[in-house]
Amino acid sequence: MIAFGPVPSRRLGRSLGINNIPPKICSLACVYCQLGRTLKMQVQRQAFYEPEEVFEEVQNKVEKAAESGESIDYLTFVPDGEPTLDVNLGREIDLLEPLGIKRAVISNSSLVWRQDVRDDLMKADWVSLKVDAVEEGVWRQVDRPHGSLELTAVLDGITEFAESFSGELVTETMLVRGVNDGADCVGEIADFLARLKPARAYLAIPTRPPAEVWVRPPREEAINRAYQMLSDKVDDVEYLIGYEGNAFAFTGNVEEDLLSITAVHPMREDAVHEFLERADAGWPTVRWLVARDQLVKMEYDGHRFYMRKLRSRDG
Ligand code: SF4
Repeated sequence: MIAFGPVPSRRLGRSLGINNIPPKICSLACVYCQLGRTLKMQVQRQAFYEPEEVFEEVQNKVEKAAESGESIDYLTFVPDGEPTLDVNLGREIDLLEPLGIKRAVISNSSLVWRQDVRDDLMKADWVSLKVDAVEEGVWRQVDRPHGSLELTAVLDGITEFAESFSGELVTETMLVRGVNDGADCVGEIADFLARLKPARAYLAIPTRPPAEVWVRPPREEAINRAYQMLSDKVDDVEYLIGYEGNAFAFTGNVEEDLLSITAVHPMREDAVHEFLERADAGWPTVRWLVARDQLVKMEYDGHRFYMRKLRSRDG
């Protein structure tokens, strides 16, 4: 199936997914990949489907969604592999334009050193680029790229793309415990993102079974530290930690709202106090959430923060 959904997406609202390449053909073999090990590593772009076939499948889904009164915010190229390996990506983005829905691409960045890939991505309205490391050794450890890829070229390509892209650029950084979650590594990523100036930087952690069994999400302290370090350099930082609840919705339920907010941003203790005051609630709510192991408190830079407990296999 080339088109699927629309599905709710934290980043994109209601997103109609486009699977423009066959399963698990990728230029990377990330240790945390939730699709398992890469079946076919490649860096050569090629045609996988006829662009018209992609368009027709998407058009059908859009029509069906309209018939059942479902809205779609984005048409998103998010295959089980790397979407820019599709040599027809730019043409497909063009073909979708008459549907009048914004077009998004979620890429692993590995091929943006190529001018033709940057040209294709330029046509999209929203692009997400992966930045898991800016140090070659760490990059090779976490993303395990195809042997011909070089990080310097990839980072230069990302920078060049960011300078000329007029759409919305976001970045995504997946943190793996003991690999790229250290202060040095995150600091370097933060410096790189500061120069890139993305509209938003997402911090993700593995919450689903990864390709390699040894992969663990960072501890909460490391995630909070990474959040604070990135926030010092980038205007908008958000967690993507696998919380699929009713994020951001005002439920009128103080506990629910606190958990929703802290699933996306850690809250400083003074902000929690203010929030509780506005909601006409008291500190026992927080104590109760901590006791139930739903909220975690931690220290950073002389402040106490609260974040939602991550739902991971080992806590
Ligand atoms: S880039 Fe995405 S699809 Fe490819 S190996 Fe990494 S996580 Fe999996």
